[in-house]
Amino acid sequence: MTSHTIQEIQNKLDLLLINTENILNIVDKNDVAEIREIEDIKESIYSPDFLLSKNFPLRDLIRSKRAIYEGISNMPGEVEIKRLIKVAQNILQPCRDHHGVPILPNSGYRSPLLNGITPNASKRSQHMKGEAVDFEVPGISNIELARWIRNNLDFDKIILEFYKPGDPHSGWVHCSYKSKEENRHEVYTTHDGKNYMPGIVA
Ligand SMILES: [Zn+2]
Repeated sequence: MTSHTIQEIQNKLDLLLINTENILNIVDKNDVAEIREIEDIKESIYSPDFLLSKNFPLRDLIRSKRAIYEGISNMPGEVEIKRLIKVAQNILQPCRDHHGVPILPNSGYRSPLLNGITPNASKRSQHMKGEAVDFEVPGISNIELARWIRNNLDFDKIILEFYKPGDPHSGWVHCSYKSKEENRHEVYTTHDGKNYMPGIVA
């Protein structure tokens, strides 16, 4: 091997090294930052403090005394959290804004395990998908709340549950939201969780 050839090989190696460093720099500065950003977003949506909408942190839609008591995790996945965002922004937040009072939902997301041990819960409950919330608004009766949602909001399904005429704060309102395109606009009343009557029945 002549010294000329050795020099040529050395030059090529140097060039390769420079190129490799450049590639590493590009990966460092752009791609890694982007990956980091996606991870940060994922981390933040799993934080109980993450705001699904202006006044509704994730913690309010996953809290469950039953889950704590039974030692069951009730943390939804990313898909369910994205659905909870729609429920908070299209149902809960407009109810809060219109009535001007804080709302602490009775029940939002339910993991399949939690749903399984919840009395009267349907096996196909939309709570398991992060599409439904049970709630009341302080100061107004549950029948009024159900009517207000029906008359003013886009929704998938409203159920006035366990409401007793003459006792305005009995029961609660179950409301689900899927998307503008998928919402079915169904309205029911049930007094026992078994028989469902169409409409809002006092
Ligand atoms: Zn419900």
